[in-house]
Amino acid sequence: MTNTSRPAAAASTGQPEFDADRIVGSIRDGFERGLTRPLEWRRNQLNAMETMLRENADQLLAALAVDLHKPATEAWTTEIGFTLSDIDHQRSHLAKWSEPRKVKVPLAFQPATARIVPEPKGVVLVIAPWNYPLQLLLSPMAAAIAAGNALVAKPSELAPATSEALVELCAKYLDTTTIAVVGGGVEESSALLDQRFDHIFFTGGTRVGKIVMHAAAEHLTPVTLELGGKSPAIVAADADVEVTARRIAWGKFVNSGQTCIAPDYVLVARPLRDRLVEAIEQSVTAFYGADPHASADYGRIISDDHFERVSALIGGEGSGTIAFGGTSDPSDRYIAPTVLIDPDLDSDVMTNEIFGPVLPVICVDDIDEAIDFVNGRDKPLALYIFTDDDTTAQRTIARTSSGGVSINGTLLHIGPPDLPFGGVGPSGMGAYHGEAGFETFSHLKSVFDKRTKPDLKVLYPPYTSMKERLIKLLQ
Ligand code: NAD
Repeated sequence: MTNTSRPAAAASTGQPEFDADRIVGSIRDGFERGLTRPLEWRRNQLNAMETMLRENADQLLAALAVDLHKPATEAWTTEIGFTLSDIDHQRSHLAKWSEPRKVKVPLAFQPATARIVPEPKGVVLVIAPWNYPLQLLLSPMAAAIAAGNALVAKPSELAPATSEALVELCAKYLDTTTIAVVGGGVEESSALLDQRFDHIFFTGGTRVGKIVMHAAAEHLTPVTLELGGKSPAIVAADADVEVTARRIAWGKFVNSGQTCIAPDYVLVARPLRDRLVEAIEQSVTAFYGADPHASADYGRIISDDHFERVSALIGGEGSGTIAFGGTSDPSDRYIAPTVLIDPDLDSDVMTNEIFGPVLPVICVDDIDEAIDFVNGRDKPLALYIFTDDDTTAQRTIARTSSGGVSINGTLLHIGPPDLPFGGVGPSGMGAYHGEAGFETFSHLKSVFDKRTKPDLKVLYPPYTSMKERLIKLLQ
């Protein structure tokens, strides 16, 4: 049974020991015994995950508040509530998604039938980040369970209160012979990556994503990489400034900017710039009051290192003019919602993912310039286009590539469960949510089914001109 992050004590040091070999071995044993394949097991585990969230919501909300100062309503919406919907969606569709799918058989191969049979990949590894530490651990877990896999999952050490709660609760509620949620940081993650898995699902930064892919290559393990990047918000000349400002401000400053699909920077039609910045400031005041530091609804930066990193972007070389915000307090890792105008394009704030409450605003002359700007950089995880003109929206979507798009909104394309969620190029590979998640954790096995009779001899040698004519006719 595997249910803790540090199950054994090393005899020599008395220090707890992380035994990845033993953890993964025991989970693989559970998979090989066939425990996870029955649909009943999958439903039971999803039910248990739901019960775990409902019965311990207060404890989990408190942990999220400790780690990120997440307001309870926001934490419910983006973490617990989001995950509950995901669990429900997986649970109610898994029987249908698991069914064999009949496909057509060309005349030349008949009589026969053919079908695609989804089967669980096996033992999967889920590695989660700290910014939505509950959702980004449990949501991939739910998809892996729905597809009938055994799994090992590791939350982020940078959200310790949530991570500890999840390790403890998953051991209490879920089947520990087939599901191990283990705590730990880089060392434990590296030890797990040395093991052989049948799929690795990683959410985190590009740098670590490369480490994960290297490790997976050793075992030829398929990977899903949910990474980050700089997601642009393009504001066209015809955009509704007030609504646009409100939606950008919400998407950017929720969770203090620590959202993988937060708008990283704004490209705005030049004549709208000042009105837009003013309206974003008004939205921030409406959301968080005149002093966001005193607001119960505004988050904090996860760690001192990230606080230093994000603070340095404000007032850093070439970082542009501070339109509003710009203040910070290291004692509780507060950084004010901040807008920077016209930073240098080669400055740190414009060359790295910001992942904090700092929003650079850059003017463009027209939509084509915005499109060229985006296409000159890495493919982003999300792209936002604000316009009431459908042609402008469609042209922008058609001429750019990004993991996902919201038109006249931010973050929202992550919501509908039938929209696959994932990046493209440097922002990631693979996708999940809904059926896309089920398929990510399934092998789609092709099954061709022929009776022994009749046994037509057309395909067998010797090849005669008659057979050749027949084959050409049938193919
Ligand atoms: P991270 O890459 O530093 O860490 C993610 C996980 O990897 C953690 O569990 C950590 O313990 C582990 N890890 C760290 N270093 C490791 C190493 N050397 N070897 C093995 N494992 C290691 O990411 P983070 O700081 O937790 O999260 C922020 C990043 O994640 C941002 O870039 C953000 O855009 C991205 N992100 C993406 C999504 C998405 O869905 N695409 C969602 C949230 C965050």
